[in-house]
Amino acid sequence: MVEMRYYLRKYKKPITYVVVILFFGLLIFAGINTKSIDHTVYKEYVYAGNAFGTGIKKSIYAKNSGDTEDLNRKIDAELRNLDNQLSIRKTDSEVCKISYNYSAGGKYFLSSNICQYLKDELEIYKDSDGAFNPCITKLTGLWGIEDGKTKIPGKKKIKKALEQCNGDNLKVYKDYIVLEDEGMAIDFGATGKGIACDATRAILEKYDVKGAVISIGGSICVYGDKGDGEDWNIGIQNPRGKDGETIGIVQVDGTKTVSTSGDYEKYFESDGKRYHHIIDPRTGYPADNELMSVTIICENGLQSDGMSTACFVLGLDKGMKYANKKDVEAIFVTKDKKVYTTKGLQKKLRITDNKYSWEKYEK
Ligand code: AMP
Ligand code: MG
Repeated sequence: MVEMRYYLRKYKKPITYVVVILFFGLLIFAGINTKSIDHTVYKEYVYAGNAFGTGIKKSIYAKNSGDTEDLNRKIDAELRNLDNQLSIRKTDSEVCKISYNYSAGGKYFLSSNICQYLKDELEIYKDSDGAFNPCITKLTGLWGIEDGKTKIPGKKKIKKALEQCNGDNLKVYKDYIVLEDEGMAIDFGATGKGIACDATRAILEKYDVKGAVISIGGSICVYGDKGDGEDWNIGIQNPRGKDGETIGIVQVDGTKTVSTSGDYEKYFESDGKRYHHIIDPRTGYPADNELMSVTIICENGLQSDGMSTACFVLGLDKGMKYANKKDVEAIFVTKDKKVYTTKGLQKKLRITDNKYSWEKYEK
């Protein structure tokens, strides 16, 4: 007995370590064990739809379709609501009505969710030195990219439209905005699909489903997992390939939205030159730099969608700096088929098209 007490005192420290290690070992073992006894089979349920002027694909993993049918309807209804609020194609949307109802300098009342989105857009506007512009509508209208009546506008028209697209003239309050100049408009073309991803995620969280990938145009809401605890594999569109043709696969966890902006989504050609839908608000012309596409991956959909547009305008160096500053992951694909990523993606992106190659970004 005395001997035992002697040894206990002598080896008190090592014994404590062993006990602590055993305790945590047991916890980990219990954790692994609980995981391995979850034999639930999750099936994939696929739904298609339309909103925001684009096709929507929902792939949902759940125990049975009873869990997904109602969810699918809820998501569709929510996306319709948002589209009716934000669309610049629907003449009776809240956003569209502004352009023929407001007078410069006056208060224009809007739903509070729209005011919050505009506040978030203004943050991206400021952080990107105006590369992302929430008041770009007059310029995109001139190029006719949205309505399909594409044309190269005259220099005078571009100069005038540039004045009407000054984001500094947008002031946002809790439930109203003030546009300080005539002829202005607000625009969710670059963030609407990301906002839709955020709204979709909020609905998914309320349902008993294991995981989902919801593609809304260039933005993809990645949620949960398939039941295997693994990350999802998301394809990166080949900017010069057919729709769905990818240049690589990126691993993404179920808390993120993946947004891509590229010069291939909407464009026309004239005299061998490509004129696409992402306008550089400093020049009034489509952004013209070394990039073909930018993908941003982060938890907030509005941010990923807005920043992908901003980084596309900013170009590789400034875009990479901005992505790093905001601590989001990014993939830049250049016209010479090089792929640059933020550090966090170096091991998560696998290039599958041998015409493209990953390059370490050094600067
Ligand atoms: P995305 O495909 O997400 O990059 O969004 C492109 C859409 O955003 C265009 O079709 C325009 O409606 C709008 N847009 C174009 N250029 C800009 C810009 N510099 N800032 C904000 N929105 C823009
Ligand atoms: Mg965008």
